Amino acid sequence: MKSTITTTLLVIIAIFIYFQYVSKPQVTQTAEMPTSLHPVVEEKMNQLIEQAAGKGISVVITDGFRSAEEQDRLYEKGRSSEGNIVTHARGGESYHNYGLAIDFAIKIPTGDILWDRQYDGNVNGVADWTEVVTIAKELGFEWGGDWINFKDYPHLEMDFGLAIDDLQRGERPSDVALQSEAN
Ligand SMILES: [Zn+2]
Repeated sequence: MKSTITTTLLVIIAIFIYFQYVSKPQVTQTAEMPTSLHPVVEEKMNQLIEQAAGKGISVVITDGFRSAEEQDRLYEKGRSSEGNIVTHARGGESYHNYGLAIDFAIKIPTGDILWDRQYDGNVNGVADWTEVVTIAKELGFEWGGDWINFKDYPHLEMDFGLAIDDLQRGERPSDVALQSEAN
């Protein structure tokens, strides 16, 4: 009797270990890297542009999906290449690499693109940048300007409950997550 219980316990532990450590890397290998913006993110991006236009604000999307190679090049900016540091993420460490992030700016009537967060083009007493961020948050985006360590004001992302670690391990937004985020 005692040995049966011991055997059962060992089997349970073995199964647990298998699913915890052994079966996971297989998931990583089968999950492909995305090559474009996630359909839900794209849909929300279009809604953002539309709703901002309704308030007299012209939103420009300056960046969306970014491959890991492009991300690595961007990472070198302000480090081994010229310019200011624009990111702390290397290839595979940014939501852009999984098609889950966009960067925006504001286009003014002259055609110039602004990153001015005080500009109030529609003259309603609220900075256009703030208005865009408010709409974006209502649509389910997280704003890089809310980050504590490295503020990324043009950045908007949707993580579908997945951390970068999860994405690097090969996890992708599930259909269930897509449904709830889309509603
Ligand atoms: Zn970004």
